[in-house]
Amino acid sequence: MSPAELHIEATGLLKQKEQKAFLIAGPCSAESRSQVLETGRAIAKSGDASIFRAGVWKPRTRPGSFEGIGEIALSWLQEMKAETGMPVATEVANAYHVEACLKHGIDYLWIGARTTVNPFYVQEIAEALRGVDIPVMVKNPLHPDIGLWIGALERFNQCGIKQLMAIHRGFYSYEAAPYRNEPKWDLAIKLKRWMPELPIICDPSHIAGTTELISEVSQTALDLGMDGLMIETHQNPSLALSDAKQQITPAAISALMNNLVLRKSDFDDTVHLEKLRIIRKHIDGLDEKLLSLLADRLALVSEIGAIKKENNVMIFQLKRFFEILKTRKGMGDDLDLPKDLVHELFELIHKHSINIQNKI
Ligand code: PEP
Ligand code: MN
Repeated sequence: MSPAELHIEATGLLKQKEQKAFLIAGPCSAESRSQVLETGRAIAKSGDASIFRAGVWKPRTRPGSFEGIGEIALSWLQEMKAETGMPVATEVANAYHVEACLKHGIDYLWIGARTTVNPFYVQEIAEALRGVDIPVMVKNPLHPDIGLWIGALERFNQCGIKQLMAIHRGFYSYEAAPYRNEPKWDLAIKLKRWMPELPIICDPSHIAGTTELISEVSQTALDLGMDGLMIETHQNPSLALSDAKQQITPAAISALMNNLVLRKSDFDDTVHLEKLRIIRKHIDGLDEKLLSLLADRLALVSEIGAIKKENNVMIFQLKRFFEILKTRKGMGDDLDLPKDLVHELFELIHKHSINIQNKI
């Protein structure tokens, strides 16, 4: 896979925000006209959010749960926008949704995690948008496959959508705890590396799944250079018809936004820049030594490979592999190194050792 070339224009709203984090807020689902209007008024009054969100069609894992109000809710969003001036966003999952949203003047569309996984749906939605200039936000797919995320962004771009954003909403994992969806920050950062001009919004609500973790996830997102947040809010979260456990009140959003620390992207004073330069030089030297040690280690692996071949001995020896992991773990503990770092490092080294011997 080669880095994708997207033709992107930043949406105006994102460009404006500088003093405070860029925020998209609103309920998981539009539930009633009064709920949409009241929530919209509260958010507009606080001035915290740039965009109001509400799901109109809800993709639910199992049938029988609240599946959204449908098209009529779009007129509530329109009414809320007319009253407060706040642009509105909703999720679309097929061409019919797109048509209805365009008819009702919806300003932003997002593609849900359950849709991004399916290139047929994504293509259908993208085709329905051909020739329309509307911003589209693409949530990551449910499972950690960055290719599907990039592919969906490319499909929209190829149909002429230039105002694109990605939304990092976490990934399904057997070991998601304490999160509902594991925040694989490395994947969001990888996406940023591949498509540096693409804004990435973090959705701490779907990552956290519970109100207590939202502020921590939001701060981490900003510290890692995410371009904004999408947070679910409900006037009365315990009565919400979907995602009740993760929604917070508009007042709680205001408190959260006031507590978030916005950091500079780099140092702007010479004293600290100089300190950093010296430390980085030291790190460069250590990295050089690390690589040279690694080269010595791999040379020894090649020697072992040759001896094994001569003597007709199997390459992979489970006992030795376990011994390496165990002893290196102990060495790492003595040096106070993070356990998972040592484990992953030696798994990686071992994988490459096997590849080298295989070639021999
Ligand atoms: C949502 O934003 O309400 C939603 C359904 O999100 P996701 O697609 O991330 O599960
Ligand atoms: Mn939700």
